[in-house]
Amino acid sequence: MTVHTRKAVFLDRDGTLNSDEGHYYIYKPEDFVFNPGVIEGLKRLQKAGFLLFVVTNQGGIAKGIYTHEDVKRVHDYMCSILANHGVSIDKIYYCPHHESVESCICRKPSPYMINQAIEEFGIDKNQAWMIGDGKRDVEAAEAAGIKAILIQKNQNLIPAIEQILDSNRQ
Ligand SMILES: [Mg+2]
Ligand SMILES: [Zn+2]
Repeated sequence: MTVHTRKAVFLDRDGTLNSDEGHYYIYKPEDFVFNPGVIEGLKRLQKAGFLLFVVTNQGGIAKGIYTHEDVKRVHDYMCSILANHGVSIDKIYYCPHHESVESCICRKPSPYMINQAIEEFGIDKNQAWMIGDGKRDVEAAEAAGIKAILIQKNQNLIPAIEQILDSNRQ
């Protein structure tokens, strides 16, 4: 039986970690630009003992617009910049499906990817948050039984992260 004791923050990717301004799908490293406050904010969360997960829908794979290899290249790029700042993502979960092609169990608003991390890493749901810019992110978090913070698309991430750190201190 897994003991669930660890703190975690789940992060949506496009529109939350990186700007999706002018793009419907981001699948090239050169189109990946961090939103303000992200690197600093993740560093603060990690320092406070939170595991960090990215949970992202990548339905463009099912639609044939880009491939798993493209997603890997973008994630390698994202992680290399974070690593340069001493930040590491504990695991990235992505759903490659899209309901227009095939139904699946993982695409947000399904809590599937969040639940996977909760089990794999022994996350305490009472100390877990999801930050996202979409209604689907909030719904996935609620279905998984963790707290959700809805942000405006591409806004500075620091206020959301301070909200988590403040409630962590109490
Ligand atoms: Mg988003
Ligand atoms: Zn899926």
